[in-house]
This record gives sequence, C-alpha cells and structure tokens, in this order.
Amino acid sequence: MQKFFGLNVTGKVDKETLDVMRQPRCGVPDVAWFSTMPGGSIWRTHNLTYRVVSYTPYLPRSAVDDVFEKAFQLWSDFSPLTFTKIFSGEADIMISFLRGDHGDNNPFDGPGDRLAHAFAPGPRLGGDAHFDVDETWTVEPWTEDYSRYNLLYAAAHEFGHSLGLGHSSDISSLMYPTYQLTSEVLLGEDDVNGIQSLYGEKQRPPINPSIRKTVIAPKVCDRDLTFNAVTTVRGEIMFFKDRFYIRPMNNYLEEEVNYISVFWSHLPSEIDAAYEFQEEDIVLFFKGSKYWVVQELNELAGYPKDIYSSFGFPRTVKKIDAAASDEYTGKTYFFVADQYWRYDERQRSMDEGYPKMIADDFPGIGDKIDAAFYKNGIFYFFHGTEQYNFNPKTKEVRVLRTNSWFNC
Ligand SMILES: [Zn+2]
Ligand SMILES: [Zn+2]
Repeated sequence: MQKFFGLNVTGKVDKETLDVMRQPRCGVPDVAWFSTMPGGSIWRTHNLTYRVVSYTPYLPRSAVDDVFEKAFQLWSDFSPLTFTKIFSGEADIMISFLRGDHGDNNPFDGPGDRLAHAFAPGPRLGGDAHFDVDETWTVEPWTEDYSRYNLLYAAAHEFGHSLGLGHSSDISSLMYPTYQLTSEVLLGEDDVNGIQSLYGEKQRPPINPSIRKTVIAPKVCDRDLTFNAVTTVRGEIMFFKDRFYIRPMNNYLEEEVNYISVFWSHLPSEIDAAYEFQEEDIVLFFKGSKYWVVQELNELAGYPKDIYSSFGFPRTVKKIDAAASDEYTGKTYFFVADQYWRYDERQRSMDEGYPKMIADDFPGIGDKIDAAFYKNGIFYFFHGTEQYNFNPKTKEVRVLRTNSWFNC
C-alpha cells in the first residue's frame, strides 16, 4: 500500500493485480458484471431446502446455523425465494466444511487463498456450498490480517452461486470474486439486479424497508455524482463517497473505486471533510465533531478526537462540510454552512477574526460546499454536481462538473 501512492503507475503491476494476489477469493471461475452461472441454470421452485452437513471447529454450531440463516435471508429479502432448513435427507443446498481434495475436482488448499465454492442449481452437487474447514472462520467483522474470515460474507457470496449467480465486476457487489473488507454484509445493487433477473421481485416486500438496505458503489460517469469529501493524499487526489473512495487514474488505467476500509479500516463511511497537511505527511478525516489522522498512510492510534479541544471550534459547530489546506502558508480553511474558519497549522491555533462569510471572500462559488481541496494555488470546491475552481489571487472562478476528473 505504501508503495502505491506517489509512484508512477507503470501499467504492469497495478493495484488491482496486487489486490487479487493478496485477497482471499472464491474458487468459482471469473466472469464479468452481474452474470449467471455457466449453463444458466436456476431452481424451478421458489421454496428451497438446505441442510448443514458438517461444521467448522472454530465456531459453535448455533453460531454457524445463525450465520447461514442470515445469509439466506439476505437473498430472500430481495426475491420470492424461501429457504427451509432440514436435518436429514437430501436438501437442495447441502452445506459442508471440507478439507483438501474432497472429490469434486475443486480441492481446497489449506489456510488462505481459496476459501469456499458453490455449485449452480441442479440435482446432487448442484446448489451445494463447500467451505474450507482449514480456514479460521469467524463472526467478527472482516479483519485486515487475512487470517480469519467472516463466515457470513463468504456464505452470502457462495449462496449467490447456489442460486445461479456468477461473479460480478461491481466492487460493491457480494458477488465480486475477491472478498472485500467491509463492516456490514449487504447485497449490492448489482446483486439485487442479478437475483431478480433470475427469480423476479419479492411479491410482498417486508414492511420495514431498512432490512432491505443495499450497497451502491458510486459510478464515476453518473451525471448526478456528488462527493462527501475530497483531499490530496501524498499529492494525489482522492474522492470520498459513502463507504467508497474514487481515485482518478492517469493515462494507463481507469478510475479506481473501492472501499475506504481497504486502506484505512477504522475510518467511518460518509466522511464529511478531509485535508492533507504535507509538511507532516498527515491526512485528517472529519465526521460530525470527530476526526481521525493518518500519518505516512497509517492510521494513528488514539483517534477519533473531537474538533473542539483540538482546533478550537465553538460547540455550535456540529460538522465540517469541507476542508482545504495551503501547504505554503500552513493555513487550513474549514467550511461550515455559509461560513469559514482559518486554522494555522504551525501555530496550532485558529486565526483571529473568524468565522467569515464564504460569499465575501470566495465570491462566485455559492454559499454551501460539500468537499474541497487546494492544489498549486487553486481551491477546488464541490457542491452538488458542480465544481468551482477558484483562484484566490484573481478571484477567478471556473465552473465544471464534478466528474470532469474522470474519463467519461
Ligand atoms: Zn464466487
Ligand atoms: Zn467442493
């Protein structure tokens, strides 16, 4: 990760390659966007049965049973399918924890790498899901060290195959071929489209819509794209939206969209503001009245801290909309509603005479800002789908769309 920022991309070893090399994955072969399993088989009934044939030694049986029930529920929330657990005989979906070569030409490989696989709908092996018994399965959130694996995430993915879905190239999809670091296991938009293309919509959606939450990754060329925050990171621009970051790419590669947690697992989603202070090689992230600090790309311990004691904001400030730092003067600008504060990084104190009105000192950029950064003498402000490039010396403003940074 450290090597990645601030290096020229050669096009040979890109981030994607590194991720795939390092990330544990599903053993079902790759295909693109939401896809169906080879052969396009689906179940002819909507009322399916499953049976847990064997268990992992790392979790109590009741915990494993709960996980599988929850994993099926993720899919039944968005489809007409129902899942009933049986305790003997042949179920549609037989679930087993198995070791090494287990007789289906898909041998497991001990800890790491291949964690599980599942078969497309059909008789016998069809629909069955196999988990590598040599993995340390857990109900804890997905961890960075890649030595313990969240069973719910893996099961929800494998059951997608059991229902007839192949892999998806949408990073926010559960059917993405490598397991992603994420705090909450939810179907992505693409998973919902996939399962509904096979089985249709749920006839009677649940009364509480919150249990039908999905993850939607930002689409860089969406005309309605907005940002929560933007900052430079070692001089390179990084946009933040929900639980994702977007990095504009150079001529060699496409934009990169991935979970923030891939880099910084402790940061919250929906960051309000972020800025870089290059002198100390730090990046600060703000949400509500709290902030987190990353130094030399590593998350510092002891955070989050509050913005009142650290920066001297009055308690009336509940959140910061945007922040931008000028590395030459060491001044950081905080934008809150229609006002802004100026903070002196070297003195570590708020400058006198603030807050001031945004409209007075930054004419032409509107009176509300979502995200901002400062680079080479220009402030870049984002509001809704608009971007305002502001030259503080001449007060000139250029208006562009937010996604002018991407190859659209
Ligand atoms: Zn898979
Ligand atoms: Zn198998």
